[in-house]
Amino acid sequence: MDIMRHCLLILLLYVLSFPAATIELPDIGISANTVMSPADEQELGAHFFRQLRRQVAIVDDAQINNYLNTLGNRLVSYSHNPEQRFHFFVINESSINAFAVPGGFIGIHSGLILKTHSESELASVLAHEISHVTQRHIARIIQKSQRFSLPAMAALIAALVIAGTGDPEVGQAAVTAVIAGNVQLQINFTRIHETEADHIGMQLLAKAGFEPRDMPSFFERLQAASRYYEGGVPEFLRTHPVTTNRIAEARDRAEQYPHQKISYTPLYHLMKAKLLSLTTDNKQSLHKKLTEMLQTGRYRDECATRYALALTLLAIRKIDDIETHIQWLFKNDADRVIYHLLKANVAILQKQYTKAIKIYEHALKIYPRNKMLGMAYAEQLLHNNNATKAKLMLLQIPSLSNPYYYHLLANAYQSTGEIAMAHLTLADRYYLIGETRQALIQIKQAQKHKNLNFYLTARIETRYKELQTELFEAQKSLQQ
Ligand SMILES: [Zn+2]
Repeated sequence: MDIMRHCLLILLLYVLSFPAATIELPDIGISANTVMSPADEQELGAHFFRQLRRQVAIVDDAQINNYLNTLGNRLVSYSHNPEQRFHFFVINESSINAFAVPGGFIGIHSGLILKTHSESELASVLAHEISHVTQRHIARIIQKSQRFSLPAMAALIAALVIAGTGDPEVGQAAVTAVIAGNVQLQINFTRIHETEADHIGMQLLAKAGFEPRDMPSFFERLQAASRYYEGGVPEFLRTHPVTTNRIAEARDRAEQYPHQKISYTPLYHLMKAKLLSLTTDNKQSLHKKLTEMLQTGRYRDECATRYALALTLLAIRKIDDIETHIQWLFKNDADRVIYHLLKANVAILQKQYTKAIKIYEHALKIYPRNKMLGMAYAEQLLHNNNATKAKLMLLQIPSLSNPYYYHLLANAYQSTGEIAMAHLTLADRYYLIGETRQALIQIKQAQKHKNLNFYLTARIETRYKELQTELFEAQKSLQQ
């Protein structure tokens, strides 16, 4: 099933969008033929993302997310629709894959990011996925259905994506309904889309100042390496069928562009290093590997290697050596938020909480708008029993789709005695991770609270109605 996932996804969307009679599938009741509006697409994508969160591990590191979104949006700004909103996120999965969903939601597996050798290679995958969205490959075949609500469609798409990510059983039910269709037609259709995504993606790459040749060479390297992979061909190549022919075509096209002079991209290396340290389970062996790399000089980037080593040392609580690396980084690289955060984390591990607070306050003077710094500072303030200050800090951070942010804010409300607000904030957290039922329970709890003012009562009631309607719609259409 894995192998056919990309095709099945498109197939499913066909089924959702066409009157059942034209493709002779069981009647699942599509009657309205209304093309989705961009607002519908956005809503579908947002529902999909919350569904996905329930079942796969999303990397919620604000720094990595910020880097990926900056990189992705740089490419988007050169597309024919630069105003379109995109949301890039990383899934903690060692398999090599990436996918795009209507509404500009683009997921990329940590395994794929770690396989790239340059920022241009990573950008080439993003550019390809962006092009699937801007060319509306999936969206333009989805039509609004009367019996399938957006949340229900989102659930089906999420099930298909998850089918290739984690537990294969999860997506089976959704797929069984559509498996009888005309697969060959979909494969051909997919091929056209893949070539087009390469073509448009390469234009974006070149316009945004990346090396277009890195697209075919990355695909080629994946294909060559796949002979040695235990699981066979990497998922990305299976879900985005890359043939030798397609690589050759892309290579020819890339040659038409001038060579780009790529400057040093330190953030790419540092964020990849952070991702490596975050997602590697065996930290002891990673520690050994990174130490050897530094000793033998066999690394691509010294700052990133030292940074990965420092993070890994922190994770295994071997803090004696970290200080040397931090000092080296501050001296040999630029002043960076991530180095200040590292320093504060070492202080926290040594139980020097006041020192940690001072490090955060110093760093916030240099980077007053940094969300991750603000969150880390608030977390420490909460720990030091300064909930009022923590709450003020968190409320200054503009909307963040990070569940941990809501966890911290709810704790701050709880500690300052604003219990109804604490429940409402927890409801936001549950909603964000796709647990709408739990969110409703929290809102009920908030409602029970006495002495609510008019404004808060109204807000609680509105939120309850919104979530209840959404849950009802999703269940209704899935039961039909
Ligand atoms: Zn593709």
